[in-house]
Order: sequence, then structure tokens, then C-alpha cells
Amino acid sequence: MNMMNLKWTDVKDAVQKDSIVLFPIGVIEEHGPHLCLGTDIYTAEILCSNIQKELHKHGINSIIAPPFYWGICQSTKGFIGSFTIKMDTAKSLIMDILASLYEFGFREVYGINAHGDIEQNILLMNSFKEAAETTGIAARCCFRSEVMHFYGLTGEEQYICPVLPQQIEVSNSDARDIHAGDIETAIINRYYPAFADPAAAENLPSLVIEPEREMEWVLGGKTEKLSAMGYMGNPANYQNVKIEEHINDITVRYTEAILKKRSA
Ligand SMILES: [Zn+2]
Repeated sequence: MNMMNLKWTDVKDAVQKDSIVLFPIGVIEEHGPHLCLGTDIYTAEILCSNIQKELHKHGINSIIAPPFYWGICQSTKGFIGSFTIKMDTAKSLIMDILASLYEFGFREVYGINAHGDIEQNILLMNSFKEAAETTGIAARCCFRSEVMHFYGLTGEEQYICPVLPQQIEVSNSDARDIHAGDIETAIINRYYPAFADPAAAENLPSLVIEPEREMEWVLGGKTEKLSAMGYMGNPANYQNVKIEEHINDITVRYTEAILKKRSA
């Protein structure tokens, strides 16, 4: 249940039940000619509602915060639909939201981020750290453990909740889903079908960039040169993605990460 759909008295009840807060995080950015700009936000929402159910099985109450839309679009920068938000703006906003949650009485927040840009990760680790230091809230950003070392993180930090890597194979495509590929297409088509255009996806040729050019994509601003339509991967393969297994696997790994962090 998202806080946006609740009354303030319901939120008060959640505080009184010592609920932890799940905070969906993403960006508004282009996702090819076949997926909506809000793909990452919807993905974060799906994950939060599944994690909430999983936590409930472990006797943990949780509430889902309104989603944070205004993260940083690095890789798709310059594309129509990819909003340009300054690091300072985004950081101030995240800190204000976390401070508000603390004012309400919540003491523990987990950031569930569905957008992987480097600058987005830097934004999250810095703002969660500073919010924790200034308010005392246990604000923890869930972070993929396999990339933590790139950011100088060990996972022991109070503001980081390390999530173990995926071990199962969910796609049979040779073209890895870097952006708006088969996995993202499958997610939106399955859970928010009104916001996907599967016929458009089926007409898109698979697009792979050479590994040595991947950094050009990652560092941003060259999306249109590398992929005129704004995707990297094989959207047409979306029907072959084991989508429920994928979402279930992420849900279980995130829930385990949260349980582990809480008991640390
Ligand atoms: Zn995305």
C-alpha cells in the first residue's frame, strides 16, 4: 500500500506499528519507442509492493513512501523525455523527504532504486549518508553488492544495505538488457500493460554495442549516436523472459538483505 493512497491517520497507525519505510526510487527517462518514461518508477513500485508482502511473512510491518521520480539521467542524457535534474537539487529533495519521514516518526527507511546510472548511485549513497547523519534516521540505500567496490563501499556502512547478485538466468537473449531491452519490456508489459507497446517492441532489431564502447553509453550524452531509438538490448525477446521468476528472485534477495541489515 503506497502512502499516496492512504489517509494521514493510516500513516500514523503505520508509525505506531513501528513500520519500516520502503522508498521507491527511479528517474523519468526515455525507454525506447516501446516503453513509457516512467519504466524505472513503475519497476521500483512493483519491487516495493512485493518486498512489502515478503517482509510481512517475516512479521515485519512496512509502508511504501511516495516514489522519488527526480533522480539523475546520465546515460540517456540529452534524449527527449530524460529530465535533467542537478545533483544538488536531487540530493536536497531526497534529504527533505527522509527528514519528513523522520518527523512523522519513522525510524528506518530502505531505498529501492530501479535506475542504475553511476551518478544516480553517487546521489543515493551521499544523500542517504547525510540524511542519516543529520536526522538520526536509519536511512539505508539498497545497493548491488557486485558494484559496491566501484564506489568505495564495503557494505558495512550504516546507510548501505548490500543486495547479493542474481544467480538465476531469466533471459535467453545474447543481447543483454542494458536499457529498455527484453527484461524491462517484459516487466512493464506484464505489470503495467497500458504503458508498453509490445507490437513496437517486436519490430525492434536487437542492438548490442561492443564491450569497449559500453563506457560511452554509461558516461552519458551519446545515447542517440549509439542507439537512435534509445534502447540497448533485445526488446523483441520480451516474451521469452522468465518475468515472474525474475521479480520473485529480486524480491527474495532484497528482503533477505533488509533482514540481514536489521539484525546486524
Ligand atoms: Zn530503465
